[in-house]
Amino acid sequence: MVTPDTLEVRAPLQEQAWRERVLPPVERLDHGLWSVPVPIPDNPLRYTLSYLVPGDTGLVVVDPGWDSDEGWTALTAGLAAAGASASDVVGVVATHVHPDHHGLTDRLRAASDAWVAMHPAEAETLPSRQAAAFRARREEGGQPRGVTGAGGWLKQVCGAPAETVDEIMAVFLGRDAEDGVPGFGSMAEPDVLLSDGDLVPLPGRRLRAVWTPGHTPGHLCLVDETAQAVLTGDHVLPGITPNISSHPGQGPSMLARYLDSLARMADYDDHEVLPAHQYRFRGLATRAEQLIEHHRQRCAEIVAAVAEIGEPTMWQLAERLTWSRTWAQIGPMRLAAIGETVAHVEYLAERGELSWDAAAAGGPAPVRAA
Ligand SMILES: [Zn+2]
Ligand SMILES: [Zn+2]
Repeated sequence: MVTPDTLEVRAPLQEQAWRERVLPPVERLDHGLWSVPVPIPDNPLRYTLSYLVPGDTGLVVVDPGWDSDEGWTALTAGLAAAGASASDVVGVVATHVHPDHHGLTDRLRAASDAWVAMHPAEAETLPSRQAAAFRARREEGGQPRGVTGAGGWLKQVCGAPAETVDEIMAVFLGRDAEDGVPGFGSMAEPDVLLSDGDLVPLPGRRLRAVWTPGHTPGHLCLVDETAQAVLTGDHVLPGITPNISSHPGQGPSMLARYLDSLARMADYDDHEVLPAHQYRFRGLATRAEQLIEHHRQRCAEIVAAVAEIGEPTMWQLAERLTWSRTWAQIGPMRLAAIGETVAHVEYLAERGELSWDAAAAGGPAPVRAA
């Protein structure tokens, strides 16, 4: 049995800051890399670890962080600690487009003229593109069963109570929301697309993209071949299980892809791990195995719960599972909990252990034992 204690903490100051719920310091790492914590206001994650990667022509910033004035101040202070300024930034790589990673990219590009790189599958998930695709589907009349946005999906497909959905949606659909698709202002479109195995175009540095779908469809890890380090984004974190949600219509389920992407991490077990949250560590194969085991147990719990309840809706099933808080205390994050439950059910359905027909007509589809 592997436990978190079997990981070797490589950043005692970061680990201490994580425990004490404060911001860790900017740190210079081996081979000229820099770790810059960028705060996420009012969020229990507290900060994103942004990385500065030097090359012959300037710096690449991996995951600039959440878009706020406080975040911008922290990022530019980190650049200054590295003896640089925004104008020295030649490129930005987003491991994925969640706002705590990609939010500040637009502002950094405006201040630097840097190119922006991400995986092509990730670019398709940019909120602006999703909203456009949603509108196109609706105009074609192709929206299934009159389902509108995440709220409609929760009610009509998952069987969530209407008043709870309104409560959840009020939190998630901010002022930029359109057609039920939450907005995060203008998120930067990519100039450079990085596919699996591609080198980041930074002369003098061998920084290789490894496509690790799961947390998002186009999530990238970056392997610094000089520093023997792997920047894992949100794919692997030392003490947090990344959220896996449903992205239907993209081949294998996201959980199947995530488990495959975790198995790939064993190749880099001798590398230092530079995650986007918490702290640096060693023991990547062990941590990947812990995460695989977590999902195995979750799958077993779900199969058992379905057998016990008998044909629950997705909402009833999620309510029954073990979460770190009670179902009511989870509040609006029940949207993520439902996404996580759906991801497991889709995976189990693919393996023939359960069945669930999200497109079924006539109300929420029950989850059934196969
Ligand atoms: Zn993320
Ligand atoms: Zn994150």
